[in-house]
Amino acid sequence: MRLLMIGPPGAGKGTQAVRIAEKFNLVHISSGDLLRAHVKGNTAIGRQVQQYLASGDLVPDGIVMDILRKPVVDANARGGYVLDGFPRTVEQAEIAYSVAQTLGVEVQVVVHLEVPREELVRRLVERGAASGRSDDTIDVINHRLDVYDEKTLPMLSYYAAREKLINVNGARPVDEVTWSITVQLQQMAKQLAGD
Ligand code: AMP
Repeated sequence: MRLLMIGPPGAGKGTQAVRIAEKFNLVHISSGDLLRAHVKGNTAIGRQVQQYLASGDLVPDGIVMDILRKPVVDANARGGYVLDGFPRTVEQAEIAYSVAQTLGVEVQVVVHLEVPREELVRRLVERGAASGRSDDTIDVINHRLDVYDEKTLPMLSYYAAREKLINVNGARPVDEVTWSITVQLQQMAKQLAGD
């Protein structure tokens, strides 16, 4: 199975993606983690993207596509993937679709985690205090949420139109959210197997 985990910062994409990957025996790929690893390793890409991550702006599409291509193809060969944090714009979704189609790794399901903004801010401030993640400060948090509303939310209609979208209430306890995603994915997996 090949699926995307979409949601605003703080919605629990990473947490749920890890759990779902484990349950369905898929590889978890996070664009944010890959970018942060480059920054930490002070690679050429890391130096190019550092400022975007620090300010909460989106990294240019070309760079994101380059770092994702190999992990996605490798994961597909190992049974599928849960991709978290990508795509983030309609343009990325369109580029991803055409590249994935040539590689035979198109997305089958999109899980959309919905959480009210006040709850997202509360969670992100808490995470910033616990982890020290540099983009979890109040100004950057608000900016990232604005970027999500402006650039990523419109992308969901792209997947809704293709009947690939599952909407999940992500404001509930972690286990409940995992359960809800799992049940819906099992139904979806049956449909995909029947296709
Ligand atoms: P995340 O860990 O998904 O919250 O991503 C952290 C940061 O990495 C974002 O604020 C962006 O700067 C960058 N980033 C992650 N994924 C993408 C993407 N698909 N497109 C552009 N920038 C991204």
